[in-house]
Amino acid sequence: MDSKIKKIKSWNIHSARNTYGVKEWGNGYFDINDHGDVAVIDPQHSNSNPVPLMKIIEGMQDRELQMPMLLRIENILDQSIGDLNETFRKVIKRVGYNGEYRGVYPIKVNQQAQIVEEIAHFGSRYQHGFEVGSKAEMIAALSTLENIDSMIICNGYKDQEFIELGLEAIKLGFKCFFVVETLTELPIIVERSRALGVRPHIGVRVKMTSQVSGHWGATSGERSVFGLSSRQLIEAVDYLKEAKLLDCLELLHCHLGSQIPNIRDIRVGVVEACRYYAALCKEGAALAYIDLGGGLAVDYTGKQSNSEQSRNYALEEYCEDIVETIKNTLADDGLPHPTIITESGRASVAYTSILLFNVLDVNRFDATPVADEVEHEHEFLKNMREVINAITPQHLQECYNNALYYRDEVRELFKRGQIDLRMRSVSENLYLTVLHRIKELIPELPRVPEEFEGITAALADIYYGNFSLFQSLPDSWAIDQLFPIMPIHRLDEEPTRRAILADITCDCDGKIERFVVDQQVDNTLPLHALKDNEEYYLGVFLVGAYQETLGDLHNLFGDTNVVSVRLNEDSSFEFVKEVHGDSIADVLSYVEYQPREMQIRFRNKVEAAVKAGRITAKERQQMINTFNASLQGYTYYEKETVARQQSLIAV
Ligand SMILES: *Cc1c(COP(=O)(O)O)cnc(C)c1O
Repeated sequence: MDSKIKKIKSWNIHSARNTYGVKEWGNGYFDINDHGDVAVIDPQHSNSNPVPLMKIIEGMQDRELQMPMLLRIENILDQSIGDLNETFRKVIKRVGYNGEYRGVYPIKVNQQAQIVEEIAHFGSRYQHGFEVGSKAEMIAALSTLENIDSMIICNGYKDQEFIELGLEAIKLGFKCFFVVETLTELPIIVERSRALGVRPHIGVRVKMTSQVSGHWGATSGERSVFGLSSRQLIEAVDYLKEAKLLDCLELLHCHLGSQIPNIRDIRVGVVEACRYYAALCKEGAALAYIDLGGGLAVDYTGKQSNSEQSRNYALEEYCEDIVETIKNTLADDGLPHPTIITESGRASVAYTSILLFNVLDVNRFDATPVADEVEHEHEFLKNMREVINAITPQHLQECYNNALYYRDEVRELFKRGQIDLRMRSVSENLYLTVLHRIKELIPELPRVPEEFEGITAALADIYYGNFSLFQSLPDSWAIDQLFPIMPIHRLDEEPTRRAILADITCDCDGKIERFVVDQQVDNTLPLHALKDNEEYYLGVFLVGAYQETLGDLHNLFGDTNVVSVRLNEDSSFEFVKEVHGDSIADVLSYVEYQPREMQIRFRNKVEAAVKAGRITAKERQQMINTFNASLQGYTYYEKETVARQQSLIAV
């Protein structure tokens, strides 16, 4: 009955929405339009028509920007920064909290100049500042911040030069805090501020004992490598009192970890932070700021749960819990309400970037029609044919076991040289036939045996995507991070294939085998069969945080092309910025080759070949042209290389 209903109900846009969960993880930024295209919703003009990603791809093609491509939507970043600030403001008003909210963006989450400049620009109306963890990030912050009333929070280990930069920022008018992570920094801060005649703003980072769940749980807790223990806090207070600078201790900092999926952990952490805050006030510190670090999670799976890659709260609940908890906890001590700072990185930038790539090839594991038995066929092959003929839902397990047994035996015979390659190939095909038959019959079983759960995955296609996992999605490889992945067009058609994804590096780790499908984590992704002469494009979403600069040059695949798009009210869009990805010469020079030198050496080689009469002078020139064109080319799979070479020759 059930399966009949399913068959009658045909595939449509709603099925696509459900299968890929666009609404669940998209945070209101993405949808599927009536033509079956993924489209970006302009959050600032919600009445305008969503812009199909395929339209943007067309624009890229017109500009000869090749896949893979990192697409950034400026309006989304603008909105994320706005949402964070507006929501805190709204909640502060509603709760009757007497302090303010100030946001800072931690540069390490995405240090690309475009992103940092956009945040400085969009954040300027909220005095949104930066959190910096090194001198380089400090310099980026100082040179990009537009609003002098923005904060700069300095974390990490700080040497004299770092501290001097911070003191100069204070002289310029920025509210720049030194968050003390180790006691050795204190004497340098005191000495340098005296020497430069600037009163420093000092913060202390406390080591929290509240443990959080999720991947970054170890960032907090007693064994955390960051922050001061209670004994060290007392030492810091005594030291500053001695130096008559205790009134410069204005900020308490804590960071529970990134991607905290459970709102309860956040509340418990805030309570602990408040206890430290009150205790330090009692010690005479002039605290007025409480900085709760990062941790605001992104719901990568869209499941709204407390599992690692999700979150069980919305932005408003996050803000509410923080503001209310601080208000209530500090009420016990009768302290004025501090300015609340958060350092949300992931949630601020994740949504703005999308990785787009085309599919180059597919490897299918279909069984070919079973060939007729040949003379003197091996007994095992005959047995496998019998298995296929006898297969019924009642005996699936038995059939599976038998087929597996015979296949393995044939493989053994092949290893011992007792069976030839053709026979082995027939055996593998018979085995695949059994698996496909089982897969078809599984829905008729009342209960699916555990052994069968892997069958869909074992028969899944491999789609080869034009990207490098190591360069563009390092967390997918390093920490099994899930990202929403889906076709960005043809969604009005039912995806009839099940697949895993492989990248174009030659590393067997360069693949993706975990997806969110129908609100579940699945080891295959529904995709469409490729069409002749038509590109098939996939998008990986929510890749704006932590992916762009952690990536490496595996197989010397370099940075992808990047395009920033601004959506307009009339549903048109502009390419506001474009950055060409690394050329082959670029990536070679990163690993200390010298492209000029390589050109000369290659020239010498081909010239020698001319001398030896192996090639003609004309062929020599052709080779040099190809070599030079390659050096200037994109590191990824290019479709139009021939055209480019020819045009180069023409020049
Ligand atoms: C990494 C980091 C952040 C950013 O955390 P998100 O979870 O990405 O918001 C904030 N503060 C500090 C100190 C960090 O190290």
